[in-house]
Amino acid sequence: MARTVLVTGGNRGIGLAIAQAFAEQGDRVAVTHRGSGAPEGLYGVQCDITDPAQVDAAFTQIEKELGPVEVLVANAGITDDTLLLRMSEEQFERVVDTNLKGSFRVAKRASSKMLRAKWGRIIFISSVVGLYGGPGQVNYAASKAGLVGMARSIARELGTRNITANVVAPGFIDTEMTQVLSDDRRAEIIKAVPAGRLATVDEVAGAVTFLAGDTAGYINGAVIPVDGGLGMGH
Ligand code: NDP
Repeated sequence: MARTVLVTGGNRGIGLAIAQAFAEQGDRVAVTHRGSGAPEGLYGVQCDITDPAQVDAAFTQIEKELGPVEVLVANAGITDDTLLLRMSEEQFERVVDTNLKGSFRVAKRASSKMLRAKWGRIIFISSVVGLYGGPGQVNYAASKAGLVGMARSIARELGTRNITANVVAPGFIDTEMTQVLSDDRRAEIIKAVPAGRLATVDEVAGAVTFLAGDTAGYINGAVIPVDGGLGMGH
């Protein structure tokens, strides 16, 4: 059955691969962008997830054009790395406001229609760093760990209504976000990963479409790692 899917930050990177995977299976897929427009085959809505009014307007537009969002993938995220002693209040807040509060804003807006439909899937894109930690990533790791508590609370609140909230925690993926890593840091990461390589965006998309599917209806509040074994034992 075709569903209406929204992927935040689905205009590029991991989000784009997730959006395309849903589109390939016949779903109606909307993606947010901040001015770039949407790639072909996807329905684009301009939305900065740090602005509640833009989030509300984006959902209203999608509801009008594609129907209420049944599958929400909260994927949009940023990094702003620096060591703890150098991290400013502004750097901490900006990352938490996008990654954690932005996810809260879209989950809250999506949930009212999911409750009415008595069906919904919410998938948060966290990171291995959320539970593993990362030097220079106090803000990012805190925001990504917060998504686990958020998902599990939503699972407890809405579980009886056929709504699940799960987390996908990717390891290191080859996207623009990781292109800023130095060659030495990249080599160090690859050495630490049992798989001995970075992941592809499609490997993350596979876990997300699985969680959104009918066969995953009894998986709730789970954290699914897609990290080549890097975070084993979390
Ligand atoms: P990219 O940097 O390639 O893309 C980030 C996406 O988020 C873009 O679509 C961007 O939109 C969007 N975005 C950022 N801020 C906002 C905002 N305020 N409002 C709306 N959209 C916003 O990142 P990735 O594809 O690599 O990462 C996607 C997710 O996966 C992130 O949450 C990231 O933390 C997580 N992740 C990534 C890993 C990796 O190794 N790459 C590993 C683990 C997790 P725009 O084009 O407008 O800038």
